[in-house]
Amino acid sequence: MLELNETHEPTLESWVHSANDGVSDFPIQNLPFAIFRRNPNEVFRGGVAIGDQIVDLLQLRNADVLAADLRPVVAAAAKPELNEFMAMGGSAWSSLRLALSRALRAGSELEHSLSACLVSQADVEYKLPCKITDYTDFYTSIHHATAVGSLFRPDNPLLPNYKWVPIGYHGRASSICISGHSFPRPLGQLKGPDDEVPVLAPSKRVDYELEMGIFIGLGNALGSPIAIAEAENHVFGMCLFNDWSARDIQAWEYQPLGPFLAKSFASTISPWIVTLEALTPYRLAFARPEGDPQPLPYLSSEQNTRAGAMDIQLEVLLQTQNMKAKGEAPVSLSRSNFKYSYWTVAQLVAHHSVNGCNLQPGDLLGSGTQSGPEAGEFGSILELSHGGKQPITLPNGETRTFLSDGDTVVLRGFCASPNAVRIGFGEVAGTVLAAPAIA
Ligand code: MN
Repeated sequence: MLELNETHEPTLESWVHSANDGVSDFPIQNLPFAIFRRNPNEVFRGGVAIGDQIVDLLQLRNADVLAADLRPVVAAAAKPELNEFMAMGGSAWSSLRLALSRALRAGSELEHSLSACLVSQADVEYKLPCKITDYTDFYTSIHHATAVGSLFRPDNPLLPNYKWVPIGYHGRASSICISGHSFPRPLGQLKGPDDEVPVLAPSKRVDYELEMGIFIGLGNALGSPIAIAEAENHVFGMCLFNDWSARDIQAWEYQPLGPFLAKSFASTISPWIVTLEALTPYRLAFARPEGDPQPLPYLSSEQNTRAGAMDIQLEVLLQTQNMKAKGEAPVSLSRSNFKYSYWTVAQLVAHHSVNGCNLQPGDLLGSGTQSGPEAGEFGSILELSHGGKQPITLPNGETRTFLSDGDTVVLRGFCASPNAVRIGFGEVAGTVLAAPAIA
């Protein structure tokens, strides 16, 4: 478990003034990583966000102004993919974070050198932060599992394994794209309850899923499980994750082996990875509700009980085609919080590897849709529209049961605590387009 250190100090301010305004997602206490370039003539390279700027790590590597022992670390983080930097482990991640925190602080003697390495976030395009080696999606919100279970199986909403097993399935890494991504409405087999046979047609029930993405940094050898006490040492950081889903394809195909084409057509992640170290001030105790079984010993540790959960506030927003045409901003559909997750990040890593499965630098774990316990804290439109039976009405009068062509969904997330500076994840946006013609 990472401890608070000088990089979390709430009084720290940067000589990059936009980092100090109290509303930026990227104050000096955050320092998340992304891969970017300014134009197609440049190579993609690693960067660290500070206010509305990016420290260009390729320029920083060439400037060579940090301590000599950081040269291989900066060189790895400057590459077009972060996998090599992720594989270096916690001491490398922390030493670069500390050096950047000191160099970006108000009064730093490196201000002149570092200011030559700054690029405006307004001037760049992002790509996936690493090669996503594998992708596993979990199902950690008991509120989502119960709400969706009651739509799919009214008589048996929460299956008996839920409170014992962190439920997951192996997803598709190749269709994960960076924020700004648009994709055609998927085709698939649809069969309503009263239809005699299925038909191939565009999904009528395209949905978003409000999730956190968890990036593995250090892997484990095949056959060597990661103990829960070690699990967080293997996690590089977290991002926002929209796991687009076609509910009608899902309903017909999901038994007996789980989701397949209902999920594999698209997922979208935010460009910035917030490190686990930056999230330290927002940790919460992990506890089971009264009467629920305690996790098995391999899913339990003193530190997981003390601070395994995370207070990450989440929001879903929608901007329809009509709203875009009129220049109207996205409107909020719901808010939730990652603290409601039934399983912690450490438990997901320990469970994933307990059978000997090897995790690798650049693996992505989805948290599952993060719905909360209160009305309106739904992480999918399936839940907001009660399975498509009760359309939601937007402020401009448009209604939705599921997503329409041209709809853009935006997810945002941030952490706030009385004893720490607010940090954010930026946002992830993605757009549903019209379905392709059926050949
Ligand atoms: Mn999902």
